[in-house]
Amino acid sequence: MSDMDILVCGGGVTGAAFSLALAECGLQVSVVSDILPGKRSSTGRVYALSPASQRFLARLGVWSQLEKGRCEPIRAMHVFGDEQQSMISFLAQEYGVGELGWIVSEEDIQGALDMALDRSHILRVHGRVCSLNLMKRSVRAHFEDESSFETRLLVGADGGRSFVRNYAGFESQFKTYGHMAVTFNLKASIPHSGLARQWFEGGRVLALLPLPDNHLSAVWSMPKCEADSFLALSQNNQVDMIEKASFGVAGSLEAVTVACAFPLNLLSVPSPAMERVALIGDAAHVVHPLAGQGANLGLQDAEVLADVIICRGRHDPGERFLLNQYFRRRARVVRHMQKVTDGLQLLFSRRDPFSRWIRNYGLKRVDHVLWIKKRIMQLAMQGE
Ligand SMILES: Cc1cc2nc3c(=O)[nH]c(=O)nc-3n(C[C@H](O)[C@H](O)[C@H](O)COP(=O)(O)OP(=O)(O)OC[C@H]3O[C@@H](n4cnc5c(N)ncnc54)[C@H](O)[C@@H]3O)c2cc1C
Repeated sequence: MSDMDILVCGGGVTGAAFSLALAECGLQVSVVSDILPGKRSSTGRVYALSPASQRFLARLGVWSQLEKGRCEPIRAMHVFGDEQQSMISFLAQEYGVGELGWIVSEEDIQGALDMALDRSHILRVHGRVCSLNLMKRSVRAHFEDESSFETRLLVGADGGRSFVRNYAGFESQFKTYGHMAVTFNLKASIPHSGLARQWFEGGRVLALLPLPDNHLSAVWSMPKCEADSFLALSQNNQVDMIEKASFGVAGSLEAVTVACAFPLNLLSVPSPAMERVALIGDAAHVVHPLAGQGANLGLQDAEVLADVIICRGRHDPGERFLLNQYFRRRARVVRHMQKVTDGLQLLFSRRDPFSRWIRNYGLKRVDHVLWIKKRIMQLAMQGE
C-alpha cells in the first residue's frame, strides 16, 4: 500500500501549479521541495506569461493575486534586427485582444502559488529527494534525512538538472549554447506604455520587458566570455551599456536589482513518461529564453498532466497508458517550440554578412505580412 497517490518532486512554478491543479480531485498529493517557502533567493528574473498560462493560473485561483499591481500587460512588442530599420511589430489590437501577454516576476508568481498551496489540502514536504526505488506498482523516494515515501506516481518537476530524470534513466539530449542570460531590473525615465522591445544583434539578444511602476526587466543573452566581462563591470557601467544597446529608447535608466546570470541550454527528452514516473517543466525540456516560453511550456505540461489524471476513470494515476496520453498531447507543441527557439538562436547568433542580411531582410518583409505575424503570435499565445 503506497503512502500517497502522487508525489511531486520540485515545488517551483511547474510543480506548484501541477499540485494545485489536483487539489480538489480526491487523490493524496504531496509536493516536496528542497527550498522552504519564502526562502528562495531573488533572481530578478521575470516571466512573459502567455494567455494560455494566464487562463490556467486563473483556473487555479492565483491570477487574482497577480492582477493586483503585480504584473504588467504587454500591449505591443517591437523586435529589431542588427539595423534599427529592420523591425517587426506586434500590436495587441491587431489580434483582437487587449494584451499579448503579461510580465510577472518569478518571486510574485511563486509567492502566489505558495500561498494557494498553503490554503489547499496538498501536503508540503521540505527535503531533497536523493534516491529512488522503481517498482512495478509504486516508486519509493528517499530523502537526504533518510525518511522515505512510497507513491503510485512520481512527477519530476525538479528543473533542468532534474534528479528524477537522471536517476530514473530517461533518455535525453543536451546542448549548451555557450551563452549566458544576464537579468537586471531597472527604472526608466520614459514611460514604457506596455511596450516590450527586443534587439537581435549577431550573438546577443537584449529584451527590455515592461514591469509595474515603469520598471523594466532587461534580459541580455550573450556569449559566456562577454557575460563574464559584463558582470565584472560596476553597476553604473552595466546600466550605461544597456542604455547604449537599447539606443536610449527608455530614457535614462537606474538599476533596482543586481545583475544575475543564467547558463543557456537546450534539453530534449524524447519520451517524458514511463511506468510510474512523468516529467514536467524544465525537467522535461529546456529552451532558449529568447521567445520567453520555458515557464509557459511547463505550466501547460502541468495543466495537461493534471487533466489526464482527473479524467482517468478507474485507472491508477501511475499507469503508463495514462501517462502516454500526457506525452502524446504535449509532444508536438514542445518539439515545435524547441525547433523554433533553436533555429532563431542559430540565425540570430551568426555574425557573417549573409546571415545578417537574411535576418534583417526577413524582419522587414515579415513586418508587412499580417498572416505570418498572426501565425507567430498564435504560436506564442497558444496552449496545446
Ligand atoms: C534568463 C531566463 C529568462 C526566462 N524568461 C522566461 C519567460 O519570459 N517566460 C517563460 O515562460 N519562461 C522563461 N524562462 C524559463 C523559466 O525560467 C523556466 O522554464 C522555469 O523556471 C522552469 O520552472 P520549473 O518549475 O520547471 O523548474 P525550476 O524553476 O528549476 O524548479 C525546480 C524546483 O525543484 C527543486 N528541486 C530540484 N531538485 C530537487 C530534489 N532532488 N528534491 C526536491 N526538490 C528539488 C528546486 O529547488 C526548484 O524549486 C526563462 C529562463 C531564463 C534562464
